[in-house]
Amino acid sequence: MLATGKFLAKANFQQTLIVLTSKCTTILVISITYNINFKPKRMREIEKTEEEWQKELTGMQCFVLREKGTERPYSSPLNDNKEEGIYVCAACDTPLFSSETKYDSGSGWPSFYTPIGEQSVEEIVDKAHGMIRTEVVCRKCGGHLGHVFNDGPKPTGLRYCMNGLALKFNKTA
Ligand code: FE
Repeated sequence: MLATGKFLAKANFQQTLIVLTSKCTTILVISITYNINFKPKRMREIEKTEEEWQKELTGMQCFVLREKGTERPYSSPLNDNKEEGIYVCAACDTPLFSSETKYDSGSGWPSFYTPIGEQSVEEIVDKAHGMIRTEVVCRKCGGHLGHVFNDGPKPTGLRYCMNGLALKFNKTA
């Protein structure tokens, strides 16, 4: 009788242990999955609601800057602009590119071989539309500007392919 009792107690203990282990494993898997997939929203120096951006920008600017859209090639007057000046973010006026680094890439979009400063833009891996590209956004407001490619001219070999709608041009006085 005592032996059976002991056996049952041991079996119960083992069962409890199995249940606990499986519960712990489930919790661990959920926690790992959550941590891998959880990306906290990046806070920007300039934060506005989408409603506020919609009031300040035109529909097409919102499409490019806020919804990561792309303007039609050769549609921006800035593509052919050869005047000296600074290209700033159309959403927050942060200086982004200088006319000194602008060149004719033949792509139909305003192209530069480098941004104006290291802190002006941020580059993010973009896996949309079945491609792996590097997205370029304004560091201050997070507005989508375009993409950067490795087929640019010297000295950087980079092509910052920008949407003219995401930029404003300030001519050097
Ligand atoms: Fe900006």
